[in-house]
Amino acid sequence: MSEVLFLGTAGARYVVAKQLRASAGTLLKVENDLLLLDPGPGTLVYLAKYKIPLEKIKVIVLSHQHLDHSSDLNIIVDAITEGGFKKRGILYLPESALKEPVLLSYLHSYLVKIEILKAKTFYEALPFKFKTTCKLNHSVETYGFLFFLPENKVLGFLSDTGYFEELSEEFKEVQILVVNVVREKPLDGVLHLSIPDLKKLLQKMKPETVILTHFGMTMLKANPFKVAQNLSKELKIKIVAAYDGMKFVIT
Ligand SMILES: [Zn+2]
Repeated sequence: MSEVLFLGTAGARYVVAKQLRASAGTLLKVENDLLLLDPGPGTLVYLAKYKIPLEKIKVIVLSHQHLDHSSDLNIIVDAITEGGFKKRGILYLPESALKEPVLLSYLHSYLVKIEILKAKTFYEALPFKFKTTCKLNHSVETYGFLFFLPENKVLGFLSDTGYFEELSEEFKEVQILVVNVVREKPLDGVLHLSIPDLKKLLQKMKPETVILTHFGMTMLKANPFKVAQNLSKELKIKIVAAYDGMKFVIT
């Protein structure tokens, strides 16, 4: 059985800066291997706190280069490879993140492989199999992901984006959808999803479970647990709000 561990559930500048929620990204466990998605500030600390065996992290995936998704990448690469003594890990990231660069050049050779993410492309680093979505509507090159799990379920990660009509099509095959819902209400010019955006999306698709995460201040003030509960009732879909350290088991 596969597992998702939310090391952190913070999104947006203020919640990250004040660490009102941790910003340590998400771990996906398939069979006995780990994939780390979007290692933001504090990831190394929380991996230690939860006693995660670093050598089991086989894959690191960056949805985009923003600091709350990438700031701990360098130290994580150093840590999982024992300072480069054990060549380990495959890193997947958008080309713009590699060009930025989010990874210091001397760390490149520590990894087994660095692979550039492209839109709507299938990747395999067994036991992990995943596909990128189209380019999302964010201020930098950003992708969402569909993970194909051994339980014959598809787990979707909808990263930072403004709402657009094709989103439901991109994630139509998922049973479990993790959504970065930064804002309670939409704000013009902010390329993040809000609760009304999520409602629009869920009118066009019906996953078994939706997990909300990556909360900004307006979501924290609204209480993500209550928001999820109300949405569940209204839309008749199981919707939960992630919290730091939450484990979700897929059977
Ligand atoms: Zn972002």
